[in-house]
Amino acid sequence: MDSIGEICTAYSGTYAGEGMASLAELYDKIEEETLRFCFEHSIACGPGCGACCEHFMPDITALEARLVAAYLLLINKDTTLISNILDARKSTTGPCPLYRFDSAYHCSVYPVRPLICRLFGVCANGDKEGNGVFRRCRFNEEETMPLLLNFGPEVPVMQDYAYALRALDSSATEVALLPKAILEQLEQLSFLTAMLSGQDDNSNPDDTPNPQAS
Ligand code: SF4
Ligand code: SF4
Repeated sequence: MDSIGEICTAYSGTYAGEGMASLAELYDKIEEETLRFCFEHSIACGPGCGACCEHFMPDITALEARLVAAYLLLINKDTTLISNILDARKSTTGPCPLYRFDSAYHCSVYPVRPLICRLFGVCANGDKEGNGVFRRCRFNEEETMPLLLNFGPEVPVMQDYAYALRALDSSATEVALLPKAILEQLEQLSFLTAMLSGQDDNSNPDDTPNPQAS
């Protein structure tokens, strides 16, 4: 089972789990369509490039943030990532606190990265007439992608995927910068995770005996 499957299983039967499962399905579809689009039009990022993550802070929805928070709680439990997110909570620009400068695999939460991270640089945008336009990422100095491609309305564009995301979650029109959105979801999901594992605030982790009535 992959990491998203593990997360969906852990929260199955809950409202949070249903939302994350729907988001995972959308991400699968996007993965398939963007891979095909890039293959058909010879679009690739430069080797080892992660400049977009260094230079911007994504705005994300609560549902996108919930899946990332679940990944941090259940899969990648590196607490320095939480510290990085806390440190970045007032930052409006990059680098993204989940970016790893020291690894060729830059994103610490790659399987659950938000929508914009899946589309930036590898997807067309819709123009005013509803046609698709692809422009080379401004950071792509190696020119590993075409400068400009024009399409008709048949090509999926960023706006289509944004609408699909909104359709999954009534609160998806409200977005927040990644650190704030993830911290909020970490708090909520920690509570849910504790409940699902049978713990609560009255748990007694060190087995201290209950006080006896005298
Ligand atoms: S979540 Fe990952 S892919 Fe998205 S900006 Fe941060 S490091 Fe980059
Ligand atoms: S989208 Fe642009 S900045 Fe981001 S990895 Fe690709 S080429 Fe680099």
